[in-house]
Amino acid sequence: MFRTAWTLTHLRGIPLRLHVSLLLVVPFIATSVAARDLPFLLYRLGVDPTALTLPPLALGLAVALALFAGVLLHELGHAFTALRYGARVRAITLMVLGGVTEIDHPDATARQRFWTALNGPLVSFAVGAAALGLSRIPGLPLDVVVVALIVGLLNLVIAVFNLLPAFPLDGGRVLGAVLERWLSPDRAVDVVAGLGRVVAIGLVVWGVAVHGLMLVLIGAFVFFGAGAERRARRQRLAVEGLTARQAMVTRVATVPPDLRVAGVARHMLLQAAQAALVRDLDGVRGALQVTDLRAGAGERAGDLVDGEPLFVNVDDPLDDVVRAMRDRERPAIVLDHFNAVAGVVTTVEVRRAAGLKALADADLPSADAPALGRPGASWNG
Ligand SMILES: [Zn+2]
Repeated sequence: MFRTAWTLTHLRGIPLRLHVSLLLVVPFIATSVAARDLPFLLYRLGVDPTALTLPPLALGLAVALALFAGVLLHELGHAFTALRYGARVRAITLMVLGGVTEIDHPDATARQRFWTALNGPLVSFAVGAAALGLSRIPGLPLDVVVVALIVGLLNLVIAVFNLLPAFPLDGGRVLGAVLERWLSPDRAVDVVAGLGRVVAIGLVVWGVAVHGLMLVLIGAFVFFGAGAERRARRQRLAVEGLTARQAMVTRVATVPPDLRVAGVARHMLLQAAQAALVRDLDGVRGALQVTDLRAGAGERAGDLVDGEPLFVNVDDPLDDVVRAMRDRERPAIVLDHFNAVAGVVTTVEVRRAAGLKALADADLPSADAPALGRPGASWNG
């Protein structure tokens, strides 16, 4: 998702990544703390700035680094809770507006999503309280006291801000999970997404009123985040109930790995194929759809399918298949019950199937809509 990030280390198997935007935001926080927050705090405490040992910029840097350590703990609060519920955590990325934890857990219950979302802000509250507690220990150097005070207050702000009831903030997910006790999951997402837009507009108006650029940026982030959450949900619903079988092409050309893209295209035309299977004597190396060929013009088929091929079963739910295709950025090779290749799921085919499903559902009251395709699924909801 975020390509401009370096993987720093792994924590319990989760890649911890630093986004390039930190290079800008850490100095920004360091200088603004040194220039604004620190003098203000010293003034409020009635302390003479000359009583500090370190220069203000060094203290600002300490605040910035401690702040991101706090953000990391917040994200670990999400990540470790999700791991405990059996989710896959793809990565934690620290970036300009804090952190992002990418969690893959399509079958999470409302209760599990509630705790996974809530444990981030709870960690921030704990970190904030601990830092404020530290600042009250008598006898500490003044430098440590002011850094602990600022970091403590900022962590409390992070906790409260993240609990705003708006996607993609934690508060939005918490509220969504709670609303699912009374509403359907889709209705709950709609309500929180709508509420998120109101919160976002409020943040922007507030930011403009106090000339706070950061508030305006965060407001915009929340506004578009609300839309993205809803869209992701819609995309999943668009193919819900369908299986891989209903979105696979069966006319597939088989090509050797050393054939160049032009040759692959020629093979596909000759065989009237909609996808190509790259295979040699050792077996299937991967599949290519037309967009892959366009992106890899001039290359060899084998170079376009590096890494493990994505195999799915004909009866696999299409929403899972689509998610895997998006994650791995490749078409899915569909195997039948004898483990022979039955076809390839392409993005074009997914769109066609989703379009047909929308047409098929159009004149049915949703409660009576038959579950298409999934064997054994109930026919009356
Ligand atoms: Zn969070």
